[in-house]
Amino acid sequence: MTDQPATVRPDRRAELAAGLARVRTRIADACAAAGRDRAEVTMIAVTKTYPAGDVVALAGLGVTDVGENRDQEAAPKAAEVAAAGVTARWHFIGQLQRNKARSVVRYADVVHSVDSVRLARALDAAAATGRDRVLETLVQVSIDGDPARGGALPDSADPDRGLERVAEALAGAAGLRLSGLMAVAPLGWEPERAFARLAEVAQRFRERHPEATVLSAGMSGDLEQAIAYGATHVRVGSALLGMRPTLR
Ligand SMILES: *Cc1c(COP(=O)(O)O)cnc(C)c1O
Repeated sequence: MTDQPATVRPDRRAELAAGLARVRTRIADACAAAGRDRAEVTMIAVTKTYPAGDVVALAGLGVTDVGENRDQEAAPKAAEVAAAGVTARWHFIGQLQRNKARSVVRYADVVHSVDSVRLARALDAAAATGRDRVLETLVQVSIDGDPARGGALPDSADPDRGLERVAEALAGAAGLRLSGLMAVAPLGWEPERAFARLAEVAQRFRERHPEATVLSAGMSGDLEQAIAYGATHVRVGSALLGMRPTLR
């Protein structure tokens, strides 16, 4: 933590405003092309690797939702933003280890990356003591079904990683709400093919969980395709804030 207030220079603010205008136009155009109402799609600004001052500046430009993928970075950043008197809705979008659940439930409003029953239980236990309101959760879905990577497995009876098992664990947890699904297009897949498959999984999922209406999909490179296939939340980092110095 620094003693510097979380602020940015005017040129950075102008850069963020320009990035935001471009991304908002892309989202509006994608909604129009898909015949969807613009109000159906929420943009989450993915601020990983960028400082709290950028979050404060984005909030000043009307951004309400912020995404982070590492607890070590997100926890102090959320504290700094709160200390600046700014309220943001924090989305935890990265792979989450169970031993980080206690920290994440203190600042996150939504956790997008629940992909095992064991993680669902750890989050519920942490939420019971670490917060006073329900934590929204999404099941992260594996689009290619590769168990070696992140994501719950559709059409699998695996007791820990099966999509329906994870969903039931979240839906039955007192401190958690099952709000929907999240996915990342697998490397090497055409976004169209990835999000078409995701849309099928999401449709079947909603037949069983009609209240779970969130579909978090699409990033800087593929938000148009995700919106065409029903995304309600797009997670946008580099197109908004600039290229990150390191790949994450
Ligand atoms: C970093 C990240 C994003 C944003 O990626 P960009 O390509 O910079 O828009 C979205 N979702 C997840 C899970 C991420 O880790």
